[in-house]
Amino acid sequence: IKNKENHQFGTDVGKLLNLMIHSLCSNKEIFLRELVSNASDAADKLRYLALQNGDLYGGDAELKVRVSADKEAKTVTISDNGIGMSREEVINSLGTIAKSGTAEFFQNLTGDQAKDSQLIGQFGVGFYSAFIVADEVTVRTRKAGEDAAVEWQSKGEGEYSLADIQKAERGTEIVLHLRDDEEEFLDEFRLRSIITKYSDHISIPVEMFKAPVPESEGPDGEKIEAQPGEWEAINRATALWTRDKSEISEDEYKEFYKHVGHDWEEPLTWAHNKVEGKTEYTSLLYIPKKAPFDLWNRDRQTGLKLYVQRVFIMDDAEQFMPSYLRFVKGLLDSNDLPLNVSREILQDNKITQAIRKGCTSRILKMLDRMGKNKPEEYQVFWNEFGQVIKEGPAEDAANKEAIAKLLRFSSTNTDESTQNVSLEQYVERMKEGQDKIYYVVADSFATAKSSPHLEIFRKKGIEVLLMSDRVDEWMMGHLTEFDGKQLQSITRGDLDLGDLEDEESKKAQEESEKEVAGLVERITESLGDKVKEVRFTHRLTDSPACVVVDDHDMSSQMQKLMESIGQ
Ligand code: ADP
Ligand code: MG
Repeated sequence: IKNKENHQFGTDVGKLLNLMIHSLCSNKEIFLRELVSNASDAADKLRYLALQNGDLYGGDAELKVRVSADKEAKTVTISDNGIGMSREEVINSLGTIAKSGTAEFFQNLTGDQAKDSQLIGQFGVGFYSAFIVADEVTVRTRKAGEDAAVEWQSKGEGEYSLADIQKAERGTEIVLHLRDDEEEFLDEFRLRSIITKYSDHISIPVEMFKAPVPESEGPDGEKIEAQPGEWEAINRATALWTRDKSEISEDEYKEFYKHVGHDWEEPLTWAHNKVEGKTEYTSLLYIPKKAPFDLWNRDRQTGLKLYVQRVFIMDDAEQFMPSYLRFVKGLLDSNDLPLNVSREILQDNKITQAIRKGCTSRILKMLDRMGKNKPEEYQVFWNEFGQVIKEGPAEDAANKEAIAKLLRFSSTNTDESTQNVSLEQYVERMKEGQDKIYYVVADSFATAKSSPHLEIFRKKGIEVLLMSDRVDEWMMGHLTEFDGKQLQSITRGDLDLGDLEDEESKKAQEESEKEVAGLVERITESLGDKVKEVRFTHRLTDSPACVVVDDHDMSSQMQKLMESIGQ
């Protein structure tokens, strides 16, 4: 060991470790899943680089992970022969948290353990989960193609040490020195069952050592041969998505999601498809149950994991999903793209476009089906991601109708703030003679619900959609029709209720207009330049007056939005 030096963790790491150790203690065994998941990622990365430079294998191309326990030393060791890390990479990956939006994440913590452990699950703690069971962690690693190796060591209390070491094999070895009360993880059977439970889908072998069996005698005095000890794979070690759908269990899909999605929660649902024909690919797409803590962060990496002919190519290939579906996680395995495909090549590529189109409609169909068959599940989805879907009508004109079917709104039908009314439901409830879908957009749900513009609609029993999300105004600018019916804001221009007006009330209206003749002129005079026009209206039943915008003018929401961005 040479050049040993101590480093302080980035401030966030210290906080994270503390929080994690206390909030994740109910499910300690997942540390192994996280470390095996990282080893598998490291194997993927090496295989990818070796496409260009086969020498990186240095004669050892059988990538694997090995897990072992030492009862005397009270350690569990996870070692891989993947890509390894340079000194600098160790500092960046294990000494700081390099995720975008980390600061916001810490701001959101409440100090309430139950809530925070939820959040921390969304954040994902990965490597640091080692400290749930270990009071000291040693990482020895050597990067493929390099000679220098490093040893990283920490007790998880604010600092870590780094030193130069010799390491014969490329890759990473992680030694966990177990806490006193965590000795159950020294048990071979326990380790095996954890690996089978969480890591069966990992595509490289996860091996444990089978102890040698000495020669012995059977019950009838027959000789039983001695068996040498050997490493044996205890997982299936085939890429999950290449297997037949009918052979994959729900639990396997769920565990695989946690690996590809770097998520601690289970997914809400998924779709696994092999597409054959002009473009051939397999897709395994997941909808998360929870939005990531940084869903609205612009720097957030999104996209699918891309494989070409089962070889990992890149993470976060964002070209395969439109932005309004950026919460979708999962992977694509293409048979047509070249192995040396780069982000630039993907950018403007016929195959990319064909896959993107296929995946987009796959997701839209899956959501539509969920909305119809599992409304409760869909509500969970909508509450988490509805705001993102609302960007769809503007972004993806070709799928506008399909996206419109996915939308959910609050409405005067129940006056509840939960957005759970679909346009299809609205249309079914439309009144005789009603030919438009009415909506109102306001700053808040409360304002929308008590808008004076609603009075006439409530009186006549006509349902109105109540909108108050930031994106609503903008979305409605792109969504003018559904199922052949015009979407009409009730705060815009002249309100023409068409066939919904009956003759009697029309007469009554004319009468009352005569009664107050001259009033409009007087109000116009006194308001002067402050308004464009004063009009007599029948749309109010209780309130004396309200402000409307002309059909083609910017709405008051839009005006506020523009002002807020300095226009
Ligand atoms: P994530 O896997 O989501 O990136 P982790 O906390 O699990 O986050 O790991 C952090 C980083 O540390 C990884 O992205 C990787 O760069 C590095 N790393 C962790 N384990 C290994 C390993 N066994 N081999 C190589 N690099 C690793
Ligand atoms: Mg990880």
